[in-house]
Amino acid sequence: MPWNERQRAMLREMGLRVWQPPELSVPAVGPGPAGLTLPAPGAPAGQAPSVPVLPAAAPVADPSVASADWPALRAAVAACRACRLCEGRKQTVFGVGHAQAHWMIVGEAPGAQEDEQGEPFVGAAGQLLDAMLRALDLSRAGEGEPARRAFIANTLKCRPPGNRNPQPDEMARCEPFLVRQIQLVRPRLILAMGRFAVQALLRTDEPVGRLRGRVHRYQGVPLVVTYHPAYLLRNLPDKARAWEDLCLAADVMERGAGTPG
Ligand code: SF4
Repeated sequence: MPWNERQRAMLREMGLRVWQPPELSVPAVGPGPAGLTLPAPGAPAGQAPSVPVLPAAAPVADPSVASADWPALRAAVAACRACRLCEGRKQTVFGVGHAQAHWMIVGEAPGAQEDEQGEPFVGAAGQLLDAMLRALDLSRAGEGEPARRAFIANTLKCRPPGNRNPQPDEMARCEPFLVRQIQLVRPRLILAMGRFAVQALLRTDEPVGRLRGRVHRYQGVPLVVTYHPAYLLRNLPDKARAWEDLCLAADVMERGAGTPG
């Protein structure tokens, strides 16, 4: 991807090197941490090596969610009391971005600031995500060119108390909301950030470090796995790997692999 000078300057500020995409015709299986394996354009689902699969969650929600439009879905989330997390929340965190964004970012669960503000990825982790999106000429703005927009949603819409890990039953009960959001956005690419987003979308408990660097599929949509920005704030060496993941995602988009069939 041809980075412009502004993007290069931003990457330098972030202490990140500019990633060069490998030749598509010769998938790179390098010794480095990335171990990139790019699919050919239009490659069928399943090109990623198989990973252990968790049992499918048993979504528990109002069946009308499966056919809800945006306003109905928003209202259903705001009113939801399907799991214990409703008791401690200040508000639900629905998601933000362009309703037809080509990029969809899926995170984990709201933290304290998200719970306060009602928006995912705010605070330091959100600033890091926004900086990385800006470097790709993307934003979470609700207006504008869909190709340059991201819709951002979490796996859970309510904050777990004390920022503890999401529980399997909570994820199962909340899952229909995320499923419907993805159906409505119809993204060209999904970026799954962090362990719980990966578990929800790929049904695997493989660690992020072993899933990143290649392209997976969710309901036919290319899916790239990367670290959660909150993790990156505590583990700076992995920031460069996250940048490589974003570059892989951008490369998939550039090559048209995310074009709906
Ligand atoms: S986390 Fe999800 S399922 Fe649980 S109360 Fe909130 S919106 Fe409902």
